[in-house]
Amino acid sequence: MRIHTQISRVECCTDDPHRAAATPIYQTATFAQDSAVEYGRYDYSRSGNPTRETLETHLAGLEGGVRALAYASGLAAITAVTRLLRPGDELLAHDDLYGGSYRLFTKVLEPRGVRVRYADLTDIAEAASACSSATRLIYVESLSNPLLRACDIRALSRVAHAAGARLCVDATTLSPYVQKPLLLGADISLHSATKYLGGHADLTAGVLSVRDAALGEELAFLQNAEGTALGPFDAFLLLRGIQTLGLRLDRQQASAQRVAEWLAGRAGVERVLFPALKGHPTAAVHAAQACGAGGVISFTTGDAECSRRLVESLKLFRIAVSFGSVNSSVSLPCYMSHKSVPGESRHAREFSDDLVRLSIGIEDAQDLIDDLDQAVETARRVLVAVPGQGAS
Ligand SMILES: *Cc1c(COP(=O)(O)O)cnc(C)c1O
Repeated sequence: MRIHTQISRVECCTDDPHRAAATPIYQTATFAQDSAVEYGRYDYSRSGNPTRETLETHLAGLEGGVRALAYASGLAAITAVTRLLRPGDELLAHDDLYGGSYRLFTKVLEPRGVRVRYADLTDIAEAASACSSATRLIYVESLSNPLLRACDIRALSRVAHAAGARLCVDATTLSPYVQKPLLLGADISLHSATKYLGGHADLTAGVLSVRDAALGEELAFLQNAEGTALGPFDAFLLLRGIQTLGLRLDRQQASAQRVAEWLAGRAGVERVLFPALKGHPTAAVHAAQACGAGGVISFTTGDAECSRRLVESLKLFRIAVSFGSVNSSVSLPCYMSHKSVPGESRHAREFSDDLVRLSIGIEDAQDLIDDLDQAVETARRVLVAVPGQGAS
């Protein structure tokens, strides 16, 4: 099956007696047993639930994996991956990471004895030399958030496997419609489904997919043992969102391309970071492992106060953390999603406090450009009014 067919056709509970067209929500904690010593397919929703299982099966298919698992949030999914590590093990992480992942690694994982090392993993030579005999997991985002850099997944999987480690790729910024890390050699593909997979900013969820059945078993054991699985109603909402993933992203990516090109030519905008723009540092690596650029754009203005004024002057873009919804949003990562990353550990030069991150929704692209145009103009006027500061 081709991708749009695969995304939209959910194999929903094939044994449903009423042959429901939409996936039924099994909003139940328990399932009755035939007797005290006989168990049915399901007994307790923490361990297994038909709505969640339909979602997990659908996701495994989309990712090209053998098993997928759904969690209450993206961070619950990331936590599950870190449970594969023991004290003394080392995690090698990319140095441009979502703020919540960084907080989990530094405030939860490190105090419990796992060493976390950060390196620029867009550089394969640096990745290889940062690996040690204790490295058990290499963890990257591709595209990274918020600098939107691609890490070479094929090359990193070779580095990881040569070191006896696994590679986990957080592909939240792209979704499986655009990139399938498992098919590029990653051992674990991870998404905050709160973003593109859900697509409507109406739930939090996280998903993991794997291509090794034994690893899938180990993670399923942990999901049950720690009680981190997604509830049935959210599983239903997520399945419904996923069915339009391809349609939404086709439009969001096309609009993002237009907006990025427009921003790149607009006075008052300094640097535009979008993987499909000429001159993006990892454009070639990205193009070799994804079939689109996603709908997130980051840019700078050269001045933090100017960026703040710009963000606050937008009318169609809601100021909100997160991204990937049908409605456009805007954020200042340094003050919002990445507040927990201290200045000195941010990707030195580029992750500055004037960095603005846009998430392009499905609105008319020209309306979005018009809105950005008036906001850039308003922000520039503020700068011109302050002697000694002029927007270029
Ligand atoms: C949002 C996000 C997460 C965390 O997901 P939640 O659903 O908010 O817990 C992890 N990684 C990336 C890249 C994200 O953008």
